[in-house]
Amino acid sequence: MARFPLPPGSTIGVLGGGQLGWMLALAASRLGLNTAVLDPDPACSASRVAVRTVTADYADPEGLAALAQACDVVTFEFENVPAAAVEQLAALKVQVAPGARALAVAQDRLEEKTFLNGVHAPTVAFRGASSAAEAAEAAAELGAPCLMKTRREGYDGKGQRWVEHASQAAAAFEALGSRPVILEAPADFVRELSVIAARSRSGEIACFPLGENHHENGVLRRTHAPAAAAPPLVEQAQQIAARILSALDYVGVMGVELFELKDGRLLVNEIAPRVHNSGHWTLDGCEVDQFEQHVRAIAGWPLGPTAALARTEMTNLLGSEVDDWKKLAADPDARLWLYGKGEPRPGRKMGHVNRLQPLKD
Ligand code: AMP
Repeated sequence: MARFPLPPGSTIGVLGGGQLGWMLALAASRLGLNTAVLDPDPACSASRVAVRTVTADYADPEGLAALAQACDVVTFEFENVPAAAVEQLAALKVQVAPGARALAVAQDRLEEKTFLNGVHAPTVAFRGASSAAEAAEAAAELGAPCLMKTRREGYDGKGQRWVEHASQAAAAFEALGSRPVILEAPADFVRELSVIAARSRSGEIACFPLGENHHENGVLRRTHAPAAAAPPLVEQAQQIAARILSALDYVGVMGVELFELKDGRLLVNEIAPRVHNSGHWTLDGCEVDQFEQHVRAIAGWPLGPTAALARTEMTNLLGSEVDDWKKLAADPDARLWLYGKGEPRPGRKMGHVNRLQPLKD
């Protein structure tokens, strides 16, 4: 087993080599740490920076063994890592951070909300259902309209349906593939916020300023940060995040997505046990960015300072929007991050732009 703190020259393994893995690899490299990445695509974004790319499926035992052998600690850029992969890495005596418990909780929306309520992190009211009849019963109990989501594998608004009347619940259950679902009461939110929080190996916790998030078609379009928020709201968000991280004995960065209600209460929508798109503004707008913070945490280093240096607007470049790169490169206000992905399929996250303004007094 690795000894912490990992000294420069050590190697961090990342499951997944998309843009998050790429930005983790950039951050690690700046700290003198190497990255090895495992991804099914040999030309994944992170392969341009990683010292080693293992081309394999996430559940491939040989690929995982090769990664484990090359690394002192392993992390991941997405939460749907197969449980068997985490078990195999643990059996190979490689530290996985964040750990299996955080992954299991984040992979299943019903477990997630049950866990959150158990640690006094409030959520909307919800019910689970595993059959069309149970779904109808749950919708009747919860009241319509309600939002039905598959328990597993939904992201960016996929795998969910509004149920306008309890009588539609059975049909919605079938339309979602007759898989186990969660039904959620509607959150009457005034805006969506997120807090990016980190916990170190010694249990220290640091939160970045709140981000205010705007989605289009279920996909994050823009984050404004620091979000305009009175200190009690910021404190509420940070306390919620701290309760979640401590309860999971978490190591690394987590994205906590929040709904702000009219009365000022915050509800947790979901947690992402990894660096998060709504934290990309920290790359240019903060003392230390979320990627460096994650690397510091998993490597057993002290956490870095998280104060904002600028008011930042982060905009995702989706699909062919990346073709504007010449214009953006000529714009002195735009800090451009291009992920080096080949094909700009519609909706695909190809890059992002951070625009900075001075902090207000
Ligand atoms: P999710 O995939 O759970 O993050 O949901 C995607 C988006 O759907 C969120 O960012 C919200 O805008 C919306 N949403 C999710 N859950 C609820 C809910 N219970 N009530 C109202 N809107 C929701």
